[in-house]
Amino acid sequence: MPAIILFGSPGSGKGTQAKLLKHCINGPHISTGDMLRTHIEAGDDLGKHSERLLKSGKLVPDEWVNELVEKRIAEPDCRSGMILDGYPRTLNQARVLMDLLARSGFRPAVVHLMVDYEKIVARLSGRRQCPVCGTLYSLKTHPPKVPGICDLDGASLVTREDDRESVIRQRLSEYESLTRPLLDYFQKAGVPMFEINGAGAAPEEISEHVCSLLEASGVMTIANAAANPPASVTK
Ligand code: ADP
Repeated sequence: MPAIILFGSPGSGKGTQAKLLKHCINGPHISTGDMLRTHIEAGDDLGKHSERLLKSGKLVPDEWVNELVEKRIAEPDCRSGMILDGYPRTLNQARVLMDLLARSGFRPAVVHLMVDYEKIVARLSGRRQCPVCGTLYSLKTHPPKVPGICDLDGASLVTREDDRESVIRQRLSEYESLTRPLLDYFQKAGVPMFEINGAGAAPEEISEHVCSLLEASGVMTIANAAANPPASVTK
C-alpha cells in the first residue's frame, strides 16, 4: 500500500494537493496541522499546549505528533494507503514514520512541491479557509464567488492566525532548518521522490501530473487507484 508523503514548505500547496489527490490515491488525507487545530478547537490538553506554538509558527514537540500519527495510521481506513500532509517535519519524525510504515507494510514515496519563497508569502497572506469544510481559497487566484463566503456551504471564511506575515517568516525558517534537510534523509533511505513544480500550473493540472507520475512509476498500482473520477477542490 502506498503512503504518499506530501513534502514542501508552508504554502507550497500540500493541503490543496492532498484534497485533489484523494481522487487518485485510495486512503485518507492525514494532516497533522488539521489534527492539532481540531485539538485546539476542542480545548483539550494537547490543544492547550499546542496553541501558542502554532500561533507563533513553531513546531510542536515530535512525541505529540508521532503519537497522533501512529494512532491514526492504525485505523482501518488507512489499510489501502494514505496521503500524509505536513508530516514528517523533523528527522526524529521521519525515523519514527519510516519504522512504522515498514512494520505495517506501507511503501513510502515523497512528492516534493517546490515553490519559491516570495510567492509563498504572497499565497499565504491571501489565503482564506472555510472553517466548516476546510476548502481553501486564494483572494488572488481562487476567490470565492461571494467575497468572504464559502461556495460550498455558505460559511464565513477565516484567515488562519499563523498566516500573518511575521508568523509566515517564522514557519519558513522552521521549515528551512528542521524540515528541508529531510530530503537528504529520504534520498539516502532510498525512498522514491518526485520533484514537482508547485507553482507553474493550476492545482488540478498539478495533481493530474502527480497522479500520472505515481502511476507510471509503479508506486501506486492500478489496484490502489481510487475509483472516483477527478474533481476540482471546490466541487
Ligand atoms: P503549513 O504546512 O502551511 O505550515 P500545517 O497546517 O501543516 O501548515 O501546520 C501548521 C502548524 O502546525 C505548524 O506551523 C506547526 O506549529 C504545527 N505542526 C503541524 N504538523 C507538525 C509536525 N509534523 N510537527 C510539528 N509541528 C507540526
